[in-house]
Amino acid sequence: MSEAIGTQTRHDKHGLYPQATSVEDFKQNIAAVQARITAACLRSGRDPASVRLLPVSKTKPESSLRLAHAAGCTLLGENKVQEAYRKWEAMQDLTNLHWSVIGHLQTNKAKLVAKFASEFQALDSLRVAEALDRRLQAEGRSLDVFVQVNTSGEVSKYGLDPKDVQAFVNQLPAFSALRVRGFMTLALFSAEAERVRQCFILLRNLRDQLRQSAPAGMSLDELSMGMSGDFEIAIEEGSTIVRVGQAIFGARPLPDSYYWPTAGAGDPDNAASSELP
Ligand SMILES: *Cc1c(COP(=O)(O)O)cnc(C)c1O
Repeated sequence: MSEAIGTQTRHDKHGLYPQATSVEDFKQNIAAVQARITAACLRSGRDPASVRLLPVSKTKPESSLRLAHAAGCTLLGENKVQEAYRKWEAMQDLTNLHWSVIGHLQTNKAKLVAKFASEFQALDSLRVAEALDRRLQAEGRSLDVFVQVNTSGEVSKYGLDPKDVQAFVNQLPAFSALRVRGFMTLALFSAEAERVRQCFILLRNLRDQLRQSAPAGMSLDELSMGMSGDFEIAIEEGSTIVRVGQAIFGARPLPDSYYWPTAGAGDPDNAASSELP
């Protein structure tokens, strides 16, 4: 895959994506991202249908989400539970709109996720698995989940240490309302494409290895990796779900450190958390 190795990150575009303000804008942005997904698939010998685009709507107002929905988005990713829950409540009229929670969850918010989410991509503790399972059973629902892995080695990032993932996955069959689909990661945020790529390779290798020993009935096929700045590299390394916000919705006003805080910094969801180390 010699061309693939040359793919660069697009972190230089950071903060420059124009705001989508009409259904037509959303349609164009989605088509442009989809074309890049297809191109990345073709140059790495993959079927474009093997990659799902998850539009990420965090921080964007309800009006913007409604435009995205009108442009064809029926599953939206949000990283803060309370924000997602508020939006879900406000958009009950859109019966075919579903929600993927992609950010860290505290056990005391598991009941919200159990009510409205159809997917949770940031599972990284047994306490959260237990809380979600209990709340889901009470609601008579089940949930697709992804185990979040810290592939960058940065202490500020959530997710399990790769060496702890196998033992963790082996405990998950105890939680029958959770349908374990695979793994999720946030790569290193860097303009150095090769270091970003190493994060994706690590997750794919881990998936390939754990698939061999997966508990009965657990398929572990999915790899949720890649975002606006790096999804083409992720696809070259096997991603099956790319989570794309800014390239579809437009730039967010605040730096990413706000959304992926180091312990407690600037994030009301995480500040004063009893769960942080
Ligand atoms: C915000 C976010 C994304 C999308 O990032 P963009 O730069 O907007 O594409 C992907 N994954 C997670 C976990 C996020 O919080």
